[in-house]
Amino acid sequence: MTSLFVDTHTHIDSTLERSEYTKDFHSFRQEVICCEQCEKFIHISCEPTTLDVGWKIINENDEVFGAFGIHPHEAQHYTDEVEAKLREYITKGKETGKVVGFGEIGLDYHYNLSEQAVQKDVFIRQIKLALTFSLPIVLHLREADEDALHIIREYIPKDTFIHLHCYTSLPSLAASILAEYPHAYVGITGVVTFKSATNTHEVVKATPLNRLLLETDAPYMAPIPFRGKTCHSGMIPKIAEKIAALKGVAIDEVYTQIRQNTRDCYKI
Ligand SMILES: [Zn+2]
Repeated sequence: MTSLFVDTHTHIDSTLERSEYTKDFHSFRQEVICCEQCEKFIHISCEPTTLDVGWKIINENDEVFGAFGIHPHEAQHYTDEVEAKLREYITKGKETGKVVGFGEIGLDYHYNLSEQAVQKDVFIRQIKLALTFSLPIVLHLREADEDALHIIREYIPKDTFIHLHCYTSLPSLAASILAEYPHAYVGITGVVTFKSATNTHEVVKATPLNRLLLETDAPYMAPIPFRGKTCHSGMIPKIAEKIAALKGVAIDEVYTQIRQNTRDCYKI
């Protein structure tokens, strides 16, 4: 099958918590995701309290890989102990090939759940840690374009693999990062199917197909026509269809190129 895909950004633990069907990933995959095209998953562990659960999920399921790194919402809870745990799981997971990314890390000034100064400190601290592992960095950036670009330029070397996850910021920020970082990719979620998501539509049109990644950010961001439901990886075809429409290319071209991008970025 040529149209396989990887959901490059999903929160399996929170998805199962919200799911009205089952709490077990294996059954969930068979009964709910239920999509033969869905080849692999990258589960994001980004809260200090759920790192252990994430570690369990990636080790119990052959097709699930992981990324570890603390979300900007949780920056105030970033401690030496949390950092030690990140270090431990990433070191072990890199050896087995099950940890393929660092994140999601970044800045979120929309909710400001952690103070901006704390967010910036923790972002920089985690960038430095991520670079010691040479893993792709998964970036969560929201309404913090200026500070984000400043920190990225100062601390992230130009040959780093970057995944701009669930990208909804201005097209100009994506354009700058893509131009300066040849291994940066833009992650597209169900947001692209929303009528109001003009930024994301512009970004998809302006970004070459070989710089895009498919992701759900499940359980959030369910694409149309599933809005209001718990999002899951089986909904990715709706995202791929919208990308194909916006770019005026065949759907198979979207799947084939993005599957290759995933291999290039995450090595899976
Ligand atoms: Zn996420």
